[in-house]
Amino acid sequence: MKILVTGGAGFIGSNLCARLLDEGHAVLCVDNLITGSVDNIQSLLDHPQFTFIEQDVILPFDAEVEVIYHLASPASPVGYMEHPIETILVNSQGTYRMLELARKNNARFLVSSTSEIYGDPLVHPQREDYWGNVNPIGPRACYDESKRLSETLTMEFYRQYNLNARIVRIFNTYGPNSQIHDGRMIPNFITQALKNETITIYGDGNKTRSITYVSDLVEGLIRAMFTPETEGQVFNLGSTEEHTVLEYAQMIIKLCNASSEIIFETSRVDDPERRRPNPTKAQQILGWQRKVSMEDGLRTTIEWFGKRIGQLSTIA
Ligand code: NAD
Repeated sequence: MKILVTGGAGFIGSNLCARLLDEGHAVLCVDNLITGSVDNIQSLLDHPQFTFIEQDVILPFDAEVEVIYHLASPASPVGYMEHPIETILVNSQGTYRMLELARKNNARFLVSSTSEIYGDPLVHPQREDYWGNVNPIGPRACYDESKRLSETLTMEFYRQYNLNARIVRIFNTYGPNSQIHDGRMIPNFITQALKNETITIYGDGNKTRSITYVSDLVEGLIRAMFTPETEGQVFNLGSTEEHTVLEYAQMIIKLCNASSEIIFETSRVDDPERRRPNPTKAQQILGWQRKVSMEDGLRTTIEWFGKRIGQLSTIA
């Protein structure tokens, strides 16, 4: 099939492009590189079935495709707080344009939403029918609220035009091709531990997170797109294994054989206390299960970060 991946030069997008090519699809990767990098798709550029176009999806462009994964959007707090207006526009105007493109091509459509649409949740674990607890004017609102609008647009294209569209709410994902300096917990801790630097925890370390390895997430994105009768559905994709932020820091120090100290700094504004999905719907309808254990996933990620940091220091 001919598949468009917006945001395909980003962390998740590049892993998805590689997997789709492995499965024999033709992949059109569109990215304006605002937070992504050509490094992530370097190994794909020579593939005969892979095309990369540097393009902002907020602006008009045309393509003949059968399937659209709309992943384009800054995703880390550092990324969206540096680019708040671009984030709002890609999740509103950009999503609208990609929905219109899907409609014109009669294509299947999937939008990558986020656990952030639940805000600082009052219900644990979060099921798809929980409406969330979001601050609409805080510094994270450019992301949380625009992702909520992106979901609304997608549902209206499904309802008004019968578009074959679905929404996936992605929870904290980690793995190779992450941005080294995106400020998220796992990249931060690994980078600091690999350099034996002090590890900084924002808050007292008792906030909890659950993390999913990127290949498991990609498997879920493929199942959500291609499982019959999933149009108009919303799926949480994320691991239920919950640990405190302090526990993650300690695990990473151990796996890196590091001697880093841990320090605690003031919590970031609107940073949720707990984050844990209820992925029962994805398990039942998509047959999706996490396969990669946290220890295996962290080991592979640490190895990738080690090489990447080495490359960057050679370039510097
Ligand atoms: P990323 O920043 O690595 O990738 C996003 C990509 O989108 C980047 O390559 C960026 O350059 C591109 N992009 C942004 N605006 C664009 C525009 N206007 N036109 C074209 N390209 C544009 O982030 P990621 O972690 O790979 O996230 C991918 C998707 O998954 C995002 O929609 C994000 O909201 C969602 N998500 C990710 C996580 C996670 O843990 N990584 C969690 C929840 C949701």
